[in-house]
Formats: sequence, C-alpha cells, structure tokens
Amino acid sequence: MINRKVYLIAFLLFVICFLIATMWQIISKLPLEINIGAYYICRYNLKVIWILSQRISRRYQVSFPPPVELVKLTMNKPILLTEREANYLGTSSEWIGAYVDFPLSLICPRDPKYLLKVAMDSQGLDYEPSYIWHPDNRTLAYCPYCRLAVLLDGKIERR
Ligand SMILES: [Zn+2]
Repeated sequence: MINRKVYLIAFLLFVICFLIATMWQIISKLPLEINIGAYYICRYNLKVIWILSQRISRRYQVSFPPPVELVKLTMNKPILLTEREANYLGTSSEWIGAYVDFPLSLICPRDPKYLLKVAMDSQGLDYEPSYIWHPDNRTLAYCPYCRLAVLLDGKIERR
C-alpha cells in the first residue's frame, strides 16, 4: 500500500513539474503584445514624446515636429502638467498641475541596448534614441521593437 502511495505522489509531482515547465515555455514565447509591461511603457513614452514635442515647438518657435535633439534636452526638465496632458497620458489626477519630468522617454524597454543606453543617459553621454524620428509626414516617432507609432496628431497606431 505504502509503495503505491509513494508512486502516486511521485507521479503527481512529475505531472505538476511538467505542467509548470510547459506553461513557462509557452509564456516566455508569447507574442510581444501579451508581454504587457514593455508595451505599455513604450506606449507611454511615445505619448510623452508627443507632449514634449508640442511644447518645444511652441516654446522655441520651431516647426512641428521639432528636432529629436531638442526633445532629448528637455526630457529631464520638469514641466507643469495640464489636465489635458495628464488625461492623455492616463496618469492619476494628482499629476494635474504638478511639476513632472520624463527621463528616459526616448528609450524603449525592448531595445536590445536598453541597459547600455540607460547607463549612458545617467552619465550624461549621448545615445541613439530607440525610436525612429519622424519617419514619414504623418508620424512623429516609431518604435521598431514594439511596432508602435505616435502620429503627428497624438494618436497611437500599431503597425
Ligand atoms: Zn517600443
């Protein structure tokens, strides 16, 4: 009797381990859009880039979209967030009328050089943004890793 129980428990343990391993394999191979975290950060980054670009054009009187170098320069400077901007970003209402800065907004978490670029940013070094800047006359920026684009009018588009 004891032997049968031991075998049964061993068999169940094997099945459970097998299921966990299989599930893990499946989860790690899921398509990008189900890998939610990075996707939402990227989407948020693109919205931030749109807000900053709008403000830069107004402030420096340059045509929209402004050069990406200007966006990079203003990223670490806090801005007073309006209600419209906070709603667009989908942030909590506490952000309305608060000074907020948006560091690292030009780096997508899916960029293979993400960590290197974050390190370079923290050292004040220049790095290539993850996003393709103004690739066509309706797009402000495009993420080749997430296939997400922010259009000139602020809409997010999947490609
Ligand atoms: Zn991305």
